[in-house]
Amino acid sequence: MHLQIHRNRGPECLCEDRERLADLKPGEAFIIESLEENLYYSPLGNRLRQLGFDSGNRGLCLYQNMGKGSSAYRICGSVIALRREDAEQILIKKDPYAVCRDKNQLNMMSVRGFRIASASAGNDIWNGRNGDGYRIFLAGNPNVGKSTIFNKLTGMHQHTGNWPGKTVELAEGQYRYHGKRYELTDLPGTYSLEARSAEEKITAEAILSGKADLVIAVADACCLEKSLYLAMEIRKTGCPMILCINLWDEARRKGIEINLKVLEQITGCRVVRTSAVERKGVDTLKQTVEDFFSEKEVCSPEKHEKENETDADESISCLIDAIMNQAVVFHRRDYWVRDYRIDRFLTGPITGTLCFMAFLFSLFWLTIVGANYPSDLLAEVFNRIGAIFARSLSDLQVPSILSSLFLDGIWRVVSWVVSVMLPPMMIFFPLFTILEDLGYLPRIAFHLDGCFRKCHACGKQALTMCMGLGCNAVGVTGCRIIDTEKERKIAILTNSLMPCNGRYPALIAITVMFFAGGNAAVGGGILCVAIGLTFLVTFLVTFILSQMIRRNQKTTFILELPPYRKPQISQILFRSVLDRTFFVLGRAIMAAAPAGAVIWLLANLYVPEILPFTGSNVQQTWLQMITSLLDPAGRFLGLDGAILFAFILGFPANEIVLPSILMCYLSGNSLIDVPDYTELKMILLAHGWTIKTAVCMLLFTLFHWPCATTCLTIRKETGSNVQMLLAILIPTACGTLLCSAAAFLLG
Ligand code: GDP
Repeated sequence: MHLQIHRNRGPECLCEDRERLADLKPGEAFIIESLEENLYYSPLGNRLRQLGFDSGNRGLCLYQNMGKGSSAYRICGSVIALRREDAEQILIKKDPYAVCRDKNQLNMMSVRGFRIASASAGNDIWNGRNGDGYRIFLAGNPNVGKSTIFNKLTGMHQHTGNWPGKTVELAEGQYRYHGKRYELTDLPGTYSLEARSAEEKITAEAILSGKADLVIAVADACCLEKSLYLAMEIRKTGCPMILCINLWDEARRKGIEINLKVLEQITGCRVVRTSAVERKGVDTLKQTVEDFFSEKEVCSPEKHEKENETDADESISCLIDAIMNQAVVFHRRDYWVRDYRIDRFLTGPITGTLCFMAFLFSLFWLTIVGANYPSDLLAEVFNRIGAIFARSLSDLQVPSILSSLFLDGIWRVVSWVVSVMLPPMMIFFPLFTILEDLGYLPRIAFHLDGCFRKCHACGKQALTMCMGLGCNAVGVTGCRIIDTEKERKIAILTNSLMPCNGRYPALIAITVMFFAGGNAAVGGGILCVAIGLTFLVTFLVTFILSQMIRRNQKTTFILELPPYRKPQISQILFRSVLDRTFFVLGRAIMAAAPAGAVIWLLANLYVPEILPFTGSNVQQTWLQMITSLLDPAGRFLGLDGAILFAFILGFPANEIVLPSILMCYLSGNSLIDVPDYTELKMILLAHGWTIKTAVCMLLFTLFHWPCATTCLTIRKETGSNVQMLLAILIPTACGTLLCSAAAFLLG
């Protein structure tokens, strides 16, 4: 793919005494004069102008983050976070009049910029699915509701969430309408066809491949200027297009009125309005698509379509100006003030940190408090089912070796995994999804960007770390939203330093049993400290890596902070329970069943005495031999051989580590019930556990190799076995260092 960019205005030479965006204090309004030359000609400069930082546009400096390394600016109807170094290269004029008179006038800004003059299609690069239905692409800026529309059209349940960068892969589905089949592809969000990151490239290549029979360009009714830029770019490529103005309900609440007829006249394409979450307008969209293909609807030819390339430059900005002047009316100019006040609180240097800790604490506290009772209940259910199985197997006269393999091996581990894992996940995931839907995650990224800036990394890494808290494999894929290769590599290599949900059951169990003494608040606090430690280690490793990988390469951070939105309860339940909980649980069971069988076999098969390393004269099982071989390494880490072996067995899925430890300890015993925390603690104490073991177990659970799925994802994303190896070594080295230090200090 090759894109040439034509610019409207020339860059500005470096000029010391001019006012710069970075000099502004919160509350000061500005008019953009120009970008400095070196920024203007860079991809970053292009992106900034696509987001509205272009000559003549007005904006307002809203607030700064912790450390004042980044500021949030309101421009073209949206809030964009930008680093100081980049803001320093944007020349501005202060606009005191705008502040005094009515700073809300800022909504009336126009997008000026540049556009694609020629684009050679990447047909050979993007090879989508070919079918007999019509092929439709859904494209648009991040967070405008593409996935929600996709879900409403297809009846599927793709991940939706109130933050930019959540969709990094293509999602494909289909729907039927009046007997005809339509194949729909939900493309990752982008601001322009001139891609800056890996996931934006997917979209640009898909559109430019010319494989779509129709593109539905989804625009945000609340930030029409910014959304229309991409839509008009798509239009210019000659793709057949329908413009879908989504978030209509939100625009209505904000007092934004859009005249669709005028919009149709100016853009020359059919326009449909939708409120996708409420499913409003979705049927009209289906009908419009049908009309489009059956040629009932004849679009008026776009008046700019036949222009040649030189004056087409002006056409996008002229079109957008015309639309904003003729088709859009703002009735309420203070609609953004509520979000602004919340942001001041959630991203303030002190309040922001306190809020972040409070959210984290509540998340863990609720998980610990809420998980106890259902865990006991599930354990009871499993115990009863286990007893029924035992009776049935003996009634059926199944050979004792087979029934023992099933009951003492497979069933035991599976029932422990489910009863220990399911309740915390059922609580943690919905709570996390609520924060995601509210729009809090980008605020965390903005708030923490000061730390990442000091580490020479990108604040978007905070987003991928949050995803890692759910699942490291998802976090690694999510790193596609990071613009530069260096920052992306660092984010991938450090993602496994965040404990994924598979590790929570063990973390919670150890905390509750050994440190919290049954007090959920203390438990929540300890887990917050544990997560704080993972953040610290991530910052440290990120800093070291950024010094090693292309040291002088500049790092950036541009992130749109979306408006706060009401969480969609049904979606949250579906996504967090079915999509995440059951998916993760299913994966854990798939790993737990064979692990249970392996441990049982190892515990019941004896090592032939001829082997030289069996050591003692007493006959040993394979399990005893392996754990005793691993024991010195385990002791060095403050653990023991059985714990280390359980971590190795947990490579397919971290969830099975704690049950595997129990299996190793209890391998000689016949079926025992799923233990509660008191019984569990007794078992662990009986096998030599002390506070030192518990601390080291906690540390090693936080820092050790990623699971198999994450390793494969890292290899897929980086295309390199070396990177995968590094991603295994880094957290393991951190865990080894911390555990051995703790073991040494605690004697
Ligand atoms: P995408 O990134 O473009 O795929 O956007 P999503 O489909 O994930 O939606 C982003 C956010 O906007 C989510 O929180 C959705 O619930 C919300 N959303 C999507 N469409 C609408 C709508 O029409 N009205 C409102 N109020 N919210 C919407």
